[in-house]
Amino acid sequence: MSETRAISTDHTPDWRARADCRRIAAPDWWFPKGTIGAKDRAQAADAKAICRECPVAMQCATWALDQRHTDGIFGGLDVGQRRSINRRASKEQYTDAQVADAIRATWATDTRDPLVDIYLNLTIQRDHGHVVWRGRKTSYTVAGRDFTPAQIAFEVGYGREPQGHVKAHCGEPYCVAVEHLTDGAMRWRRDHLAAAA
Ligand code: SF4
Ligand SMILES: [Zn+2]
Repeated sequence: MSETRAISTDHTPDWRARADCRRIAAPDWWFPKGTIGAKDRAQAADAKAICRECPVAMQCATWALDQRHTDGIFGGLDVGQRRSINRRASKEQYTDAQVADAIRATWATDTRDPLVDIYLNLTIQRDHGHVVWRGRKTSYTVAGRDFTPAQIAFEVGYGREPQGHVKAHCGEPYCVAVEHLTDGAMRWRRDHLAAAA
Protein backbone atom coordinates (compact mmCIF):
# COMPACT_ATOMS: atom_id res chain seq x y z
CA MET A 1 0.00 0.00 0.00
CA SER A 2 1.42 3.36 -0.94
CA GLU A 3 2.19 6.13 1.53
CA THR A 4 -0.35 8.35 -0.23
CA ARG A 5 -3.25 5.90 -0.15
CA ALA A 6 -6.57 7.70 0.07
CA ILE A 7 -9.00 6.58 2.74
CA SER A 8 -12.29 6.31 0.97
CA THR A 9 -14.70 7.21 3.73
CA ASP A 10 -17.51 9.70 3.09
CA HIS A 11 -15.69 12.78 1.82
CA THR A 12 -18.70 14.37 0.20
CA PRO A 13 -18.79 18.11 0.83
CA ASP A 14 -22.06 18.08 2.77
CA TRP A 15 -20.47 16.74 5.95
CA ARG A 16 -18.77 20.13 6.36
CA ALA A 17 -22.15 21.83 6.64
CA ARG A 18 -22.68 19.91 9.87
CA ALA A 19 -19.27 20.81 11.31
CA ASP A 20 -19.48 22.11 14.87
CA CYS A 21 -16.38 24.24 14.37
CA ARG A 22 -18.29 26.35 11.82
CA ARG A 23 -20.76 27.39 14.47
CA ILE A 24 -18.99 27.31 17.83
CA ALA A 25 -15.69 29.19 17.64
CA ALA A 26 -13.35 31.03 15.30
CA PRO A 27 -11.65 28.63 12.82
CA ASP A 28 -8.18 29.52 14.07
CA TRP A 29 -9.14 27.95 17.41
CA TRP A 30 -8.33 24.61 15.71
CA PHE A 31 -4.83 25.83 14.86
CA PRO A 32 -2.93 26.39 18.11
CA LYS A 33 0.43 27.96 17.35
CA GLY A 34 2.52 25.56 19.43
CA THR A 35 2.36 22.59 21.75
CA ILE A 36 4.34 23.76 24.77
CA GLY A 37 2.71 26.92 26.12
CA ALA A 38 -0.22 26.74 28.51
CA LYS A 39 -2.43 28.69 26.14
CA ASP A 40 -1.65 26.40 23.19
CA ARG A 41 -2.18 23.22 25.17
CA ALA A 42 -5.40 24.52 26.63
CA GLN A 43 -6.58 25.65 23.19
CA ALA A 44 -5.79 22.24 21.64
CA ALA A 45 -7.58 20.45 24.49
CA ASP A 46 -10.61 22.68 24.04
CA ALA A 47 -10.70 22.18 20.25
CA LYS A 48 -10.46 18.40 20.69
CA ALA A 49 -13.30 18.47 23.23
CA ILE A 50 -15.52 20.25 20.69
CA CYS A 51 -14.52 17.74 17.99
CA ARG A 52 -15.49 14.85 20.24
CA GLU A 53 -19.07 16.15 20.31
CA CYS A 54 -19.11 16.95 16.59
CA PRO A 55 -21.53 14.84 14.49
CA VAL A 56 -19.04 14.58 11.60
CA ALA A 57 -15.91 13.84 13.62
CA MET A 58 -15.20 10.54 11.85
CA GLN A 59 -15.60 12.02 8.36
CA CYS A 60 -13.42 14.95 9.36
CA ALA A 61 -10.72 12.71 10.87
CA THR A 62 -10.55 10.41 7.84
CA TRP A 63 -10.50 13.39 5.50
CA ALA A 64 -7.61 14.96 7.44
CA LEU A 65 -5.69 11.67 7.41
CA ASP A 66 -6.18 11.52 3.67
CA GLN A 67 -5.07 15.14 3.17
CA ARG A 68 -2.00 14.78 5.42
CA HIS A 69 -2.32 18.28 6.81
CA THR A 70 0.74 19.24 8.77
CA ASP A 71 -0.99 21.45 11.30
CA GLY A 72 -4.26 21.96 13.10
CA ILE A 73 -6.73 19.76 14.96
CA PHE A 74 -9.13 17.82 12.74
CA GLY A 75 -11.62 15.23 13.85
CA GLY A 76 -10.29 15.47 17.39
CA LEU A 77 -6.78 14.47 16.28
CA ASP A 78 -3.65 16.58 16.38
CA VAL A 79 -0.82 16.33 13.85
CA GLY A 80 1.17 13.78 15.84
CA GLN A 81 -1.83 11.53 16.28
CA ARG A 82 -2.67 11.72 12.58
CA ARG A 83 0.91 10.93 11.57
CA SER A 84 0.92 7.96 13.91
CA ILE A 85 -2.29 6.53 12.46
CA ASN A 86 -1.14 7.15 8.88
CA ARG A 87 2.19 5.47 9.58
CA ARG A 88 0.53 2.36 10.99
CA ALA A 89 -2.12 2.36 8.25
CA SER A 90 0.53 2.43 5.52
CA LYS A 91 2.79 -0.12 7.17
CA GLU A 92 0.09 -2.60 8.05
CA GLN A 93 -2.13 -1.90 5.05
CA TYR A 94 -5.19 -0.98 7.06
CA THR A 95 -8.61 -1.28 5.55
CA ASP A 96 -10.95 1.68 5.96
CA ALA A 97 -12.61 -0.11 8.86
CA GLN A 98 -9.23 -0.55 10.57
CA VAL A 99 -8.46 3.13 10.06
CA ALA A 100 -11.79 3.99 11.69
CA ASP A 101 -10.93 1.66 14.59
CA ALA A 102 -7.53 3.34 14.99
CA ILE A 103 -9.23 6.75 15.09
CA ARG A 104 -11.69 5.57 17.74
CA ALA A 105 -8.87 4.00 19.78
CA THR A 106 -6.94 7.29 19.67
CA TRP A 107 -10.00 9.23 20.80
CA ALA A 108 -10.56 6.77 23.64
CA THR A 109 -7.01 6.99 24.98
CA ASP A 110 -6.57 10.74 24.48
CA THR A 111 -7.97 11.77 27.81
CA ARG A 112 -7.87 15.42 28.71
CA ASP A 113 -5.00 16.51 30.86
CA PRO A 114 -6.57 17.12 34.30
CA LEU A 115 -4.04 19.86 35.07
CA VAL A 116 -5.03 21.72 31.90
CA ASP A 117 -8.68 21.38 32.87
CA ILE A 118 -8.06 22.84 36.33
CA TYR A 119 -5.97 25.64 34.85
CA LEU A 120 -8.67 26.48 32.31
CA ASN A 121 -11.50 26.36 34.82
CA LEU A 122 -9.88 28.32 37.61
CA THR A 123 -8.05 31.16 35.90
CA ILE A 124 -9.09 34.47 34.40
CA GLN A 125 -7.14 36.40 31.76
CA ARG A 126 -6.40 39.97 32.81
CA ASP A 127 -4.81 42.96 31.08
CA HIS A 128 -1.04 43.10 30.58
CA GLY A 129 -0.77 39.33 30.20
CA HIS A 130 -1.66 38.51 33.79
CA VAL A 131 -3.66 35.36 34.44
CA VAL A 132 -5.27 35.38 37.85
CA TRP A 133 -6.14 32.29 39.88
CA ARG A 134 -9.73 32.42 41.05
CA GLY A 135 -9.89 29.04 42.81
CA ARG A 136 -10.38 29.10 46.58
CA LYS A 137 -8.00 26.31 47.54
CA THR A 138 -4.27 26.66 48.05
CA SER A 139 -3.58 23.00 47.21
CA TYR A 140 -5.03 20.55 44.65
CA THR A 141 -4.45 16.80 44.57
CA VAL A 142 -4.15 15.35 41.05
CA ALA A 143 -3.14 11.71 40.43
CA GLY A 144 -1.83 11.44 43.98
CA ARG A 145 0.32 14.59 43.81
CA ASP A 146 -0.34 17.85 45.60
CA PHE A 147 -0.02 21.06 43.60
CA THR A 148 -0.22 24.72 44.49
CA PRO A 149 -1.92 26.86 41.81
CA ALA A 150 1.47 28.16 40.69
CA GLN A 151 2.81 24.60 40.35
CA ILE A 152 -0.21 23.64 38.23
CA ALA A 153 0.33 26.65 35.96
CA PHE A 154 4.05 25.96 35.68
CA GLU A 155 3.61 22.29 34.78
CA VAL A 156 0.87 23.06 32.25
CA GLY A 157 2.96 25.81 30.70
CA TYR A 158 6.39 24.25 30.63
CA GLY A 159 5.41 20.58 30.40
CA ARG A 160 7.69 19.59 33.25
CA GLU A 161 7.68 19.41 37.02
CA PRO A 162 9.02 22.60 38.61
CA GLN A 163 12.22 22.41 40.63
CA GLY A 164 12.00 24.31 43.88
CA HIS A 165 9.50 27.08 44.56
CA VAL A 166 7.46 28.56 41.72
CA LYS A 167 7.25 32.35 41.99
CA ALA A 168 5.53 35.06 39.97
CA HIS A 169 7.78 38.01 39.27
CA CYS A 170 5.13 40.42 37.97
CA GLY A 171 3.82 41.57 41.35
CA GLU A 172 0.16 41.07 40.36
CA PRO A 173 -1.65 39.34 43.26
CA TYR A 174 -2.54 35.67 42.50
CA CYS A 175 -1.03 35.86 39.00
CA VAL A 176 -0.19 32.47 37.50
CA ALA A 177 0.57 33.56 33.92
CA VAL A 178 3.13 31.05 32.73
CA GLU A 179 5.37 33.75 31.28
CA HIS A 180 5.40 35.46 34.68
CA LEU A 181 6.51 32.36 36.59
CA THR A 182 9.91 30.91 37.31
CA ASP A 183 11.00 27.87 39.29
CA GLY A 184 14.15 27.55 41.39
CA ALA A 185 16.13 26.06 38.49
CA MET A 186 15.28 28.97 36.16
CA ARG A 187 16.21 31.54 38.80
CA TRP A 188 19.46 29.73 39.57
CA ARG A 189 20.38 29.68 35.88
CA ARG A 190 19.49 33.35 35.46
CA ASP A 191 21.54 34.36 38.54
CA HIS A 192 24.43 32.15 37.47
CA LEU A 193 24.50 33.70 33.99
CA ALA A 194 24.29 37.22 35.45
CA ALA A 195 27.19 36.50 37.81
CA ALA A 196 29.26 35.06 34.97
CA ALA A 197 28.62 38.06 32.68
S1 SF4 B 1 -14.47 17.16 14.03
FE1 SF4 B 1 -13.66 19.07 14.83
S2 SF4 B 1 -12.50 20.00 13.15
FE2 SF4 B 1 -13.80 18.39 12.28
S3 SF4 B 1 -15.64 19.38 11.59
FE3 SF4 B 1 -16.04 18.69 13.69
S4 SF4 B 1 -15.47 20.35 15.06
FE4 SF4 B 1 -14.59 20.79 13.02
ZN1 LIG C 1 1.41 38.46 36.10
